[in-house]
Amino acid sequence: MNKKSVRDLDVQGKRVLVRVDFNVPVKGGRVTDDTRIRRALPTVRHLLSEGARPILISHLGRPKGEPDPKYAMDPVAHCLGELLNHQVMKLDAAVGPEVEEELEKWDGRGVVLLENSRFYAGETKNDPDFAQQLASLADLYVNDAFGAAHRAHATTVGVAELLPAAAGLLLEEEIDYLDTVLREPERPFVAILGGAKVSDKLGVIESLLGKADRLLIGGAMCFTFFKAKGYEVGDSLVEDDYLEEAKRLMQEAGDRLVLPVDVVVADRMEEGAASRAVEVNRIPSGMMGLDVSLGTVGLFRGYIDDAKTIFWNGPMGVFEIDAFAGGTEGVAKAVAASEATSVIGGGDSVAAVRKLGLEDEMSFISTGGGASLEYIEGKELPGVAVLPDRED
Ligand code: ADP
Ligand code: MG
Repeated sequence: MNKKSVRDLDVQGKRVLVRVDFNVPVKGGRVTDDTRIRRALPTVRHLLSEGARPILISHLGRPKGEPDPKYAMDPVAHCLGELLNHQVMKLDAAVGPEVEEELEKWDGRGVVLLENSRFYAGETKNDPDFAQQLASLADLYVNDAFGAAHRAHATTVGVAELLPAAAGLLLEEEIDYLDTVLREPERPFVAILGGAKVSDKLGVIESLLGKADRLLIGGAMCFTFFKAKGYEVGDSLVEDDYLEEAKRLMQEAGDRLVLPVDVVVADRMEEGAASRAVEVNRIPSGMMGLDVSLGTVGLFRGYIDDAKTIFWNGPMGVFEIDAFAGGTEGVAKAVAASEATSVIGGGDSVAAVRKLGLEDEMSFISTGGGASLEYIEGKELPGVAVLPDRED
């Protein structure tokens, strides 16, 4: 990545405001999945070992621009303290005189965690006053929140314009892996796309068709393509507004676009529904396609086995229900077994890989759902664009 890195900063004795992505699930006052906190630790540890005074800030959930105890950062502070093995001083505000006072009293050990940035309306509006208040707390700024880099908010963009800024280690790693996929993939490069909607992923399909040797399509979105081909798709999820677009994509892509050959159909999207496998041009009326079936997994596995680079976004079926999880499991196992550089992006895709315990078998799992897709689409991420280039 050509952006200045936290490693290039002289941080000794400095207050460093670090935008992290601690937007984690919380239930009953406890963090139920600490992945995002763990992924931010390398940057925090680097800063501590260099003698910096890290001041961390993140958003959590979707409070409406004012304090809401439901979204307070206390559970995150507790979890961070356990993982980091250093003192975490959690403050009850993100800016203002009380924060400045606490920071003056701070003995400089451990880290400070500020309160939820979205307790302030200025955060999502990228309000200059709020950004200025944040900037006044620190000497330097580091952005390690890849998952929020597609948002032009005060903590991702505003404050980066006011302080000497750099990218954190996770942000750097995310961009480097996605660049491997986008810019210099070792070939064959196989992209796998699934999930619910074609409309969500049109930009991603378009971008990947320009780069990948094969684009394997599963999930609900394949039924829009099948309907565009003139097949009966029963009650499967179809976006009728996108039939022309699907036709155009199939024409442009030719045999680089690979669709399923068989699917699992059922009369209801429920555990225990009577289900069976059918060929894709024989979906009975009244039934809906909820997963890809064995023939498709075998077909996809052939491409995956030969691949040198793999990007995967979107489950192959309704993996939340065991009866329709087989396609996603089969593809996940094939990707896990492959020697290729494999990058997994997207909230539900990552959840599926985790559920199968295959995270460690993948080369890289992105922490950014929306951010990784926007980057793959070729969009500029405001939180990255604002960072200064490396001087070398
Ligand atoms: P990601 O978060 O990885 O980008 P999406 O949000 O696009 O993925 O899609 C995930 C959702 O798609 C899952 O909730 C899954 O149940 C749903 N899905 C996958 N296949 C089908 C299908 N055939 N019919 C209906 N929903 C599906
Ligand atoms: Mg999703």
